[in-house]
Amino acid sequence: MKKNNKKDGRLRVSGHNKFIISSIILCSFLVLSCNSGNQKQSNSKSQTNAVVKDSVALEKNSTEQILAKPQVPVICFHRIANGRNDEYTVSPATFTSQIKTLSDSGFHSILPDQLYDYLVYNKTLPDKPFVITFDDSRVEHAEIAAPILEQYGFRGAFFIMTITYNKKNYMKTEQIAQLAQAGHTIGMHSWDHTMITKYKEPADWEKQVIEPRKKLESITGTNVSYWAHPYGIFNHESVMGLSQYFKLSFSLSTKRDSLMPLQTVRRIIATEGSPQGLIRSMRKSFD
Ligand SMILES: [Zn+2]
Repeated sequence: MKKNNKKDGRLRVSGHNKFIISSIILCSFLVLSCNSGNQKQSNSKSQTNAVVKDSVALEKNSTEQILAKPQVPVICFHRIANGRNDEYTVSPATFTSQIKTLSDSGFHSILPDQLYDYLVYNKTLPDKPFVITFDDSRVEHAEIAAPILEQYGFRGAFFIMTITYNKKNYMKTEQIAQLAQAGHTIGMHSWDHTMITKYKEPADWEKQVIEPRKKLESITGTNVSYWAHPYGIFNHESVMGLSQYFKLSFSLSTKRDSLMPLQTVRRIIATEGSPQGLIRSMRKSFD
């Protein structure tokens, strides 16, 4: 069943002539596999097949409809540490008070899966939704951020730069697996933080996207369907390339690509400052 189902996917995607004769022979198996086999798809199935399956079941919003929907605030954190005065760092105390205030103010964290279903299929979201994300695989994401999020019932998305596995100050592979098990989303942030506008040759995509995604999926035991652009930098051509691999990709505060809004979801960077200031920025940047 599984083998037939795979052929079915290839046929519908490529429509290649050489499969036509075999498709007639396999027809009765294919009907069965379309109706029942899809439920049994393993995690390792390609996303292309998953998207094909979705498009059969539900009608997707057009690009214009996606762009017209109210944006959900997405916050991006990098380092959480004391004694650094830069725009990419907040102190643990500030982080804690920002999360507490978001919780006290009735905000609900949602995961990228929920954001995708909202944007593409108009699924409903909880009141005051927001997405909390972390870039660069720092060890404090597992040791400081995740426990605080969990204390308030929040879950986040952690974008891993995979060259950092088990390096000093970065997460161990076990910690990444534990985040996934605790209900957080694990996404990718390239192999070595090279910006996506530099991926030109197939070998670049293999090195920065395909190979590291396979490894990350084997670590987490889940599909890796989300990406954050290194440095927040992208162009139309590069996000077209990423759309083959990821359901959503996240940038920083730059305008969305008008043809590829799902691959250029905007985020704001949280900075050292009052929780109310963060909430004001969320309203200002996404309303
Ligand atoms: Zn980064």
